[in-house]
Amino acid sequence: MAASPKPPRYFGISHHLRRLDLAQIPHPLFGPPPGAEGVVVRCDCGAEYRPPWARRLPDELSIHASSDGKLWAPAQVRFQCPICASTNLLDIPVLTDINGYLAFFGDESEQPIGKGGLIFVYVFVAIHPGFLPLVNERLLRAKYVIRPHVDPHSWVLHLKDVRNPNWREKNGSRLSTREVDSVITNICEMIGANESGRIVSATVLPPSKVSHSSAEIYELALTVSLFATTELATSRKFAPSFFLESTTLDHEKNLIDYTVEKIGRGLRHSLGYVWLSRGIVPSLPISLPKGSRSELEIADLLAFVIRRHMYRAYEGNRIEFPVKLLGDVNWNVISSDRFTSTMCRDFPWAEGEER
Ligand SMILES: [Zn+2]
Repeated sequence: MAASPKPPRYFGISHHLRRLDLAQIPHPLFGPPPGAEGVVVRCDCGAEYRPPWARRLPDELSIHASSDGKLWAPAQVRFQCPICASTNLLDIPVLTDINGYLAFFGDESEQPIGKGGLIFVYVFVAIHPGFLPLVNERLLRAKYVIRPHVDPHSWVLHLKDVRNPNWREKNGSRLSTREVDSVITNICEMIGANESGRIVSATVLPPSKVSHSSAEIYELALTVSLFATTELATSRKFAPSFFLESTTLDHEKNLIDYTVEKIGRGLRHSLGYVWLSRGIVPSLPISLPKGSRSELEIADLLAFVIRRHMYRAYEGNRIEFPVKLLGDVNWNVISSDRFTSTMCRDFPWAEGEER
């Protein structure tokens, strides 16, 4: 068996990257990226064909630094003409005048429903440095109200835990669930009232009766999230970077969580992703230890609130945290192997509409 290729070097990534076989890398799922629907490759022989958006590229198209410190993004991708087999080139858009950098922090929330069905949410949130101090202060205050006798810096807020009466009893919180909900509602309102201070990109699998394993859906949702959030950032001329809460201890060995590395690098085999990342660095998602950043607590909270709304609506129950409190959200809605993106307040579908 041939050895797996040595991983390429990624600018800004000091983690030890694994040798990945093409077979381990997920297939690109998507058609043309936004804005590239009409792109065709023309060959001298007269052939015209659409680029292979939904096929895996053999090369991992990373951005790398040369020895003189210059950064190189792929500006062209080579294809073989399907008629005459000569080499054709496709120009990739490359942004050189970026507006700045955006760090997105991600977390997930899921809810089994019915027989093998699932609701799944993956949220990436970017918070402007000017808004972050207020977010941190409100978060610390919320934690202080929930557990007044414990240093709020010493524990990580997970909404699923703090809404659980057993957890509260064990952890010295005297609040009722309703009181916790009111604390959380305040944070949602702060996020909603500061649309210019943050970007929320939520990838959702609405209540689905199709049987999915949660590992399968996690991979799909993370792929869609990275794809759609990269498009959102680069279309505004921002360079995104992605930080996810670790689900393993790989970070202790200077590794990225295997699934995250596989998906992040797998996207570099997707022509659509290379196209819409517009040559921007750094682009490999990294997993961080739990609770290492307050933005991860906000991502956890947002993912929970969105998942909870869908679940309560699905069950026909009172909604504790209506998502419209959050203000504008970029919704990436998954249905089978496609997704659609919409920026709006509240879910992008009408109440009671079948999904
Ligand atoms: Zn040709």
